Amino acid sequence: MRTFPIFVSVDRKPPLVTGGGELAAIKARLLLKRAEIVDVAAGELGSELAELERAGRVVLIAARPGVDQIRGRPLVIAATGDHAEDARVAAIARALGVPVNVPDKPALCSFVMPAIVDRGEVTVAIGTEGTSPVLAQRLRAWLERELHPRLDALARLAGDFRYAVAEKLPAGRARRKFWEGVFDGAASEAALAGEESEARRLVGEAIEEAAKAETVQGRVLLVGAGPGNPELLTLKAVRALKEADVILYDRLAGTGVLEHARREVELIPVGKTKGEHSVPQDKIQALMIERARAGQTVVRLKGGDPLVFGRAGEEIAALGAAGIEVEIISGITAGLAAAASLQIPLTHRDISHSVTFVSGHEAGGDEPSFEHLDLAALGNGESTLLVYMGVSTAGLIARRLLDAGWKPACPVIAVENASRDNERRVATTVAELAAAPERLELKSPAVLIFGEVAGLPAAGLVEDVLSSPELSRAYA
Ligand code: SAH
Repeated sequence: MRTFPIFVSVDRKPPLVTGGGELAAIKARLLLKRAEIVDVAAGELGSELAELERAGRVVLIAARPGVDQIRGRPLVIAATGDHAEDARVAAIARALGVPVNVPDKPALCSFVMPAIVDRGEVTVAIGTEGTSPVLAQRLRAWLERELHPRLDALARLAGDFRYAVAEKLPAGRARRKFWEGVFDGAASEAALAGEESEARRLVGEAIEEAAKAETVQGRVLLVGAGPGNPELLTLKAVRALKEADVILYDRLAGTGVLEHARREVELIPVGKTKGEHSVPQDKIQALMIERARAGQTVVRLKGGDPLVFGRAGEEIAALGAAGIEVEIISGITAGLAAAASLQIPLTHRDISHSVTFVSGHEAGGDEPSFEHLDLAALGNGESTLLVYMGVSTAGLIARRLLDAGWKPACPVIAVENASRDNERRVATTVAELAAAPERLELKSPAVLIFGEVAGLPAAGLVEDVLSSPELSRAYA
């Protein structure tokens, strides 16, 4: 059974339990943790249910309830223990669209009961889609130990001040920051220690102080999302995602990464997707400025590291000119992730003394001129060239390198989708790449590593596009 967790209101019509025995009593008792009254349909009541009836918490209705007794219930639990009768009740409930549970009979259920950790206003419900009640119980035991026994005092405190805070503090960052301060601070400690009036005094004071503070200006965080595998996010990046009111993200940022954002966050894609054009850079900058001025925490999420081929320079300048606070959170850049995955070093005391990060597409043009690079000097056999955005220009780059005197047999390794599930690697040589780049069948995003380190033994599967001796001779 695939299920979706929700919390059902029991404020109106009472839930219904059928059966008068012990099982029915257990279920009624559970429901009474939240419901004021539970209706029980039974011929007669066992001792526990009878006592609850005397206390006014259980109302006895006729055994064998029909359509009229079941319609409109928030939920029904059929617990007579008589299979035919439980099945009859379940069938009526299902036909009426009333959620029904029959203990230990999943085939008759339209909902399952979670394992529950109950702290008054705070409820944790644990489900395993019926796969493992034991696992659910273990989780429950763990949460019971971890969660403060007086957690409900915190929820009550927040509930009591909710409207006062909404009145005095604008929605969004200011309000969230206020509550975070409360939950991290002395008021929360007091509430958990059972000193509720002290806690209330502290919250009251904090509201006045926060309201007095000037209206907060938002800020922008340029956050590196890493190469796409969410495990390669930094802790700081995760915290930024959770704080964000709005996230402007690149396609390369990866969907698993966005899972760390708050549910209410506004997500704006600004990077290129297939067939569609990206939002122009000046529009992105204008949007960041506008949102930050409105008091929002803006996260500009970029693939890899924001400071590597990420146009961060322009953004930092524009934000600075607008007087908006900027923070930069590093990410793992694609080239380093590719090297890690291959387990080859980019520098090596014998064969590479420098790494140069190069773009295969230069600003304003499709083709790299590499005018600014001394390719001949880099071709001394002791340097590594790390090429980004070079899938469509790989052949051209290789030809430039050969023209500049690079060895035709110099190894090259390309990594597509580094760190992701669909990572692919291809090894070749500069000569081979120059002659027939299409043989690599490279797809974006990919980085290319040129240099002797690319010839070191790599971990994992590497496809080989071998250099042919004629090619090497042709360029020798
Ligand atoms: N700021 C990014 C680079 C942005 S430019 C970073 O630091 O990684 C976009 C280029 O990054 C792509 O064309 C590709 O060359 C590279 N890239 C990004 N993610 C990649 C990945 N998972 N695997 C291989 N290359 C990637």
